[in-house]
Amino acid sequence: MRKLFNHLVCAAVALALAFPAGAAPAATDPSDAAMESIRPEAIRAHMNFLADDLLEGRGTNSRGYEIAAKYMATEFESMGLTPAGDAGTYLQTVPLRSARPDELNTALSVSRNGKAETLVFRKDFLTIGDPARKETSVEASVVYVGFGVTAPEQNYDDYKGIDVRGKIVALVFEAPNFESSLKAHYSSFEQKTANAVAHGAVGLIVVNDPVLEGLYPFKEQVRDLSRPGLRWLTREGVPNDYFPQLRGGAFLSLEASRQLFAGSGHTPEEVFQAAKEGKSLVFPLPLTARIHKQTKLEDVSSHNVVAKLEGSDPALKNEYLVYSAHLDHLGIGEAVKGDTIYNGALDNASGCAILLEVARAFSQMNPRPKRSILFVAVTGEEAGLLGSDYFAHYPTVSKDAIVANVNMDEDQMLWPLLDIIPFGAEHSTLDGVVKRAAERLHLALSPDPMPEQVIFIRSDQYSFVKQGIPAVFPTAGFKSSDPKIDPVAIFKEWEETRYHQPQDDMQQPNLDFNQAVKYAQFAYLCGWLITQDPQRPAWNAHDFFGDHYAKKM
Ligand SMILES: [Zn+2]
Repeated sequence: MRKLFNHLVCAAVALALAFPAGAAPAATDPSDAAMESIRPEAIRAHMNFLADDLLEGRGTNSRGYEIAAKYMATEFESMGLTPAGDAGTYLQTVPLRSARPDELNTALSVSRNGKAETLVFRKDFLTIGDPARKETSVEASVVYVGFGVTAPEQNYDDYKGIDVRGKIVALVFEAPNFESSLKAHYSSFEQKTANAVAHGAVGLIVVNDPVLEGLYPFKEQVRDLSRPGLRWLTREGVPNDYFPQLRGGAFLSLEASRQLFAGSGHTPEEVFQAAKEGKSLVFPLPLTARIHKQTKLEDVSSHNVVAKLEGSDPALKNEYLVYSAHLDHLGIGEAVKGDTIYNGALDNASGCAILLEVARAFSQMNPRPKRSILFVAVTGEEAGLLGSDYFAHYPTVSKDAIVANVNMDEDQMLWPLLDIIPFGAEHSTLDGVVKRAAERLHLALSPDPMPEQVIFIRSDQYSFVKQGIPAVFPTAGFKSSDPKIDPVAIFKEWEETRYHQPQDDMQQPNLDFNQAVKYAQFAYLCGWLITQDPQRPAWNAHDFFGDHYAKKM
């Protein structure tokens, strides 16, 4: 799963489904045998390879990543799946632009009452490079716009009544307390940036508050500077989500953020508390800021791996279900406990291993499923959902022919799986699909227990949603039937000690591949139901994402 923005980038309330007593699955359903063919030792073996030190953490645009891609392609080939990348191969090339801030030639200063103060890179602030220009500067007054969110359908606008044209906006990461996926959507850095530009802003400062510091501490943001910022390039060579109108941006430390509010008439505590409660304060700051930055640019590339299983129905085979899992992780980075290789075992060798075994289960079916299926291992997820966003923009089949996406990321195979959290399903008829799959497998479904983590925008399904394609991202839920096992505590400990650290490797304790099989069966079954239904999945009437993205197609 990706960080909140790149690089600069609880307890589950169980919604247990009533499982009808004695509702055993029909003995003749061909999906039974397919599900039973998914083996824990196969998932473990794929993970052992993909998370091996030899692959050096599968960093996007690294040799280790390319070996991983070759492995996926070879496995797909061995199953008899058709190459569905570029020019008859399993690979789709993703052109990328790498941008590194040139720290020695990057500066941020603020002046109040004619007194200028220079902030220190890495201590007070950091920047991400500009992905298209080697040098940019901006100097302007600063307006604090709260969340910086404009949501007409929610009757919400932080920019109402203020004029930020030609100004720098400062904003916090969070969003108002909308429903979970919408809150996540409006928290996204890309949305906030686009909105600031739409209102005429020329620079953007991200204020760090205790909430953001808790989710993505400034020192981790600094640590992540060791990796360049990456964007994918359009066919016209333009970086994705690029707004040349913004001539400068910066991310502040918590302490520098506090000082930003000096003399504004609002204390930082007041501002942070409001944001935490989902409320926004908006006011001009009594200062001007000057941001000057230089960027080191380089064009590189990476690959998505794409394989096809052709459907058996003469008409429905022209439609595609897309399974996705990100193959990249963070590569080699700063040492933690003496280890520099970020193996990414759960994140996301697990999802790729499950992708392979789901593909194998489908490939052995006779007859094959009615609709066709694309199995896509994507690159650049950790750098901002890049490979999936590229694929969703430039799919290797017609975009209209893609009926749904099922995404797999970071399977938490660390406790007995009793429930699934189906991120995004509630927006479309995929809700019925996950209910039927859960019922068959005697799993419960649970709602998002931690909306503040904005998980809906943090994995690859979001790229498909933004192209109007209904999508679901199932994750392991936190129910437990054993008082000695507390999945929430296990997950929190994992996040603190292993997530995005070299310790997410195959030596970590308690990997339970039987739980991974259950998750794989759930993912398989969702796909099976989608491929067999004569009706393709559809957005719910008046759904925000359906209205916002599907109608553009
Ligand atoms: Zn991740």
